[in-house]
Amino acid sequence: MEKNILFVGLGNMGGPMARRLLNHCHNVQGFDLNPLAKEEFQKAGGEWLEDIRKFKADIVFSMLPGGPQIKKLYLEDQKLFSILKPGNLVVDCSTADPQVICEVYEKAKKKALRFLSIPVSGGVKGAKEGTLTFMAGGDEEDLKEIEPLLKIMGKNIFHAGGPGAGQGVKICNNMLLAIHMIGTCEAFALGKALGLKAEVLNRIMKASSGHNWSLEKYNPCPGLMESVPSSKNYEGGFSVQLMLKDLSLAKDSMERTGQMVELGYKAFEIYKKHFEEGYAQKDFSHIFKKIQN
Ligand code: NAD
Repeated sequence: MEKNILFVGLGNMGGPMARRLLNHCHNVQGFDLNPLAKEEFQKAGGEWLEDIRKFKADIVFSMLPGGPQIKKLYLEDQKLFSILKPGNLVVDCSTADPQVICEVYEKAKKKALRFLSIPVSGGVKGAKEGTLTFMAGGDEEDLKEIEPLLKIMGKNIFHAGGPGAGQGVKICNNMLLAIHMIGTCEAFALGKALGLKAEVLNRIMKASSGHNWSLEKYNPCPGLMESVPSSKNYEGGFSVQLMLKDLSLAKDSMERTGQMVELGYKAFEIYKKHFEEGYAQKDFSHIFKKIQN
């Protein structure tokens, strides 16, 4: 059945996710603070809102940079929670601090709204192709209800636990992603220093125990794989800024729980330096350029 959806945050991920919902005949209204998102969304048949308070949907999706923007949208600037109706379902797919998510969940409950926090994995390619993995935190019945819509945008849907649990999984996953991305870049850099051709190293490592997602699906070495950011001047994809945000969340979790994560902490330092050197908007695989001599 057709649903009336409001989609907020039409950036690298939210844009293609909303377009998939439109392609499956749902009515989607869209809003983004960045007017550059308008053209593509309208081209796909979406109704762009100049004023977010004029929406008429009963399901809201949001895909924002992180926790501060989630609070701004729902509680502080646009104050969406004050205009939604009791029973409305809010599905935020951003990666954010689990503590912020628990706070927003409690505020939603007080307004008789339903709130799911469902961070995703799979990157821009996964968002375009509808192959994302969803890691849900919140009430299981709400997740069941929203599943048909999630299946349009992804292929794996997991219920991790209560509010904030999906974010916990996402933080661990992205810390591991940063570590294997850096490790993959180091392997290519050392291989080159040893006089090896990148294609040869790539082909053999993919069939050996160094095989990993960064190598297989998101190769950081330009020219080895079509359509990944490294072959497009490291544009689009998942920015250094957003990876640094996720590693900061891992670092906060380490400090809060007392569980030391040495490599995770080192990855945080490496990405922080890269960010400070002016590469915030480059794709996170651009760390290859820093590592290779
Ligand atoms: P992005 O910066 O491309 O998009 C975010 C969009 O949100 C921007 O267009 C911005 O203008 C908009 N926005 C911010 N505050 C807003 C507000 N108050 N109201 C309306 N619009 C607002 O980021 P992205 O790459 O699409 O990532 C979005 C989220 O998904 C992040 O939390 C990120 O960590 C997570 N994520 C990204 C990837 C990836 O590969 N890019 C993969 C998995 C998860």
